[in-house]
Amino acid sequence: MNIRFDAVPPLDPKVAAFVGGKHAMLIGSAWLPAASGQALDVIDPSNGRVIAQVPSGDGADVDLAVKAARTAIDGPWSKMVPAERARLIWKLADLIDANVGMLATLNSYESGKPIGDSRNGEVPFTAETFRYYAGWATKINGETMTVNAPGDWHAYTRREPVGVVGQIIPWNFPLSMLAWKVAPALAAGCTIVLKPAEQTPLGALYFGKLVQDAGFPEGVVNVLTGFGETVGAAMAAHPDIDKVAFTGSTEVGRLIARAATGNLKKVSLELGGKAPTIVLGDADIDMAVAGASSAAFFNAGQSCGAGTRFFVHKKIYDKVMSGIAARAEKLKLGAGLDPATELGPVVSQQQMERITRLISEGRSDGAEIVTGGTRAGDTGYFVKPTVISRTRPDMSVIREEIFGPVACAMPFDDEDLDKLAKDANDTEYGLAASIWTNNLGAAHRLAAKIKSGTVWVNCHNVNDVTMPFGGFKQSGWGRELGEQALQLYTETKTVAIRLP
Ligand code: ADP
Repeated sequence: MNIRFDAVPPLDPKVAAFVGGKHAMLIGSAWLPAASGQALDVIDPSNGRVIAQVPSGDGADVDLAVKAARTAIDGPWSKMVPAERARLIWKLADLIDANVGMLATLNSYESGKPIGDSRNGEVPFTAETFRYYAGWATKINGETMTVNAPGDWHAYTRREPVGVVGQIIPWNFPLSMLAWKVAPALAAGCTIVLKPAEQTPLGALYFGKLVQDAGFPEGVVNVLTGFGETVGAAMAAHPDIDKVAFTGSTEVGRLIARAATGNLKKVSLELGGKAPTIVLGDADIDMAVAGASSAAFFNAGQSCGAGTRFFVHKKIYDKVMSGIAARAEKLKLGAGLDPATELGPVVSQQQMERITRLISEGRSDGAEIVTGGTRAGDTGYFVKPTVISRTRPDMSVIREEIFGPVACAMPFDDEDLDKLAKDANDTEYGLAASIWTNNLGAAHRLAAKIKSGTVWVNCHNVNDVTMPFGGFKQSGWGRELGEQALQLYTETKTVAIRLP
């Protein structure tokens, strides 16, 4: 399996100037270094080279950013009418579109994902998310109630912004995860302290510049770079942050939920997944093979909704498995910035080592490695797209979130939907699932039995701004996207008036 290294076009001079410039964090209206003076390296995962240094913040920087966010929400931001907020958010969406080249390049450079996915998928989706929530800003209303108590009453609810929110985002979709959090919070009238992942801060810093260009009052959005254990932990524990929203691993989600108990800040969590991909005997095989491959390999498997546990009917199992393996073997590996790349590196050495360790455990547990199974090459953090067959429910490849380009499969021979759902639900996670079938009845029945926040039928990894996304069980608390995300960023106040 060859990896192309020679086909990365030179960076556009404007992008090169930004990447190579001196980076600072956005606090209020100022771009500042970390109070401690510390910095951290940003690495190109296709070759392990340092491409930039950004401030490595800590609690002192979080304090400053929270003060700026508090001043903004106590001042100009709360005085703005929703229609003005909507216009600013819409303008930000336009600026994201106007800067698609810059944002897509930064996104793929620091995360390693294929540039086409950034340019045609993630960045437009980011703009679309802001536009969608711009629309909501003017539609966040309360209700009036008919009161049962004796006398005459006028009772109503108000939806008020929850306040200063801390948002901690991961590296797998640096820009769309930012949008899923920032856009509804702005629509609701909150102010924000945003922390991108330490691996992927550049896109978020450029986004901070676009927030300023759009004309938001200072302090409405603050962008802090640094490690989770320092900046992230200080945000989760901060007494003047009213709500923390997090996307990342279940392990860190637990730490955040615990740290938030000090001031009982509101918490929403979008955590790990181990999505079952169920292919029934009547499924369209070509569609299922293409869909299941993309479920496993899209974004190098670094997606919390990735299809990881394939349950395939015995009568089509061999065909489906050989189809997925053939597709895996054809994928073009290369740097994210090479336009021909179909599968980029994983984000870091640590992730690469974790993925290959889990694959080795699968092998020693007796699973069959149909294709792939190791690191690809010895430069950068590439993992061969891997298909693993003859897995069992107790194996670590089936129990643990791998977060790499790895599809694990097992056949079933009895299309008993209760049994299938029981097997699909045999996991601590409950984020997403997909069902592949032409049998409408089976699809609906199985969708109702699966314990997960999303069930896709004849598709996988389809997210839309209108569709709530989040987890059952240990995959999280709350739903992002759609109208439901506004619940995360508003408090409901009841006003009950006894009429004289
Ligand atoms: P991964 O393990 O896949 O890198 P994490 O869940 O560790 O994912 O990271 C997601 C985000 O959470 C990142 O922004 C990271 O810096 C942050 N983070 C990591 N550890 C903590 C922590 N203890 N408290 C708060 N945030 C954290």
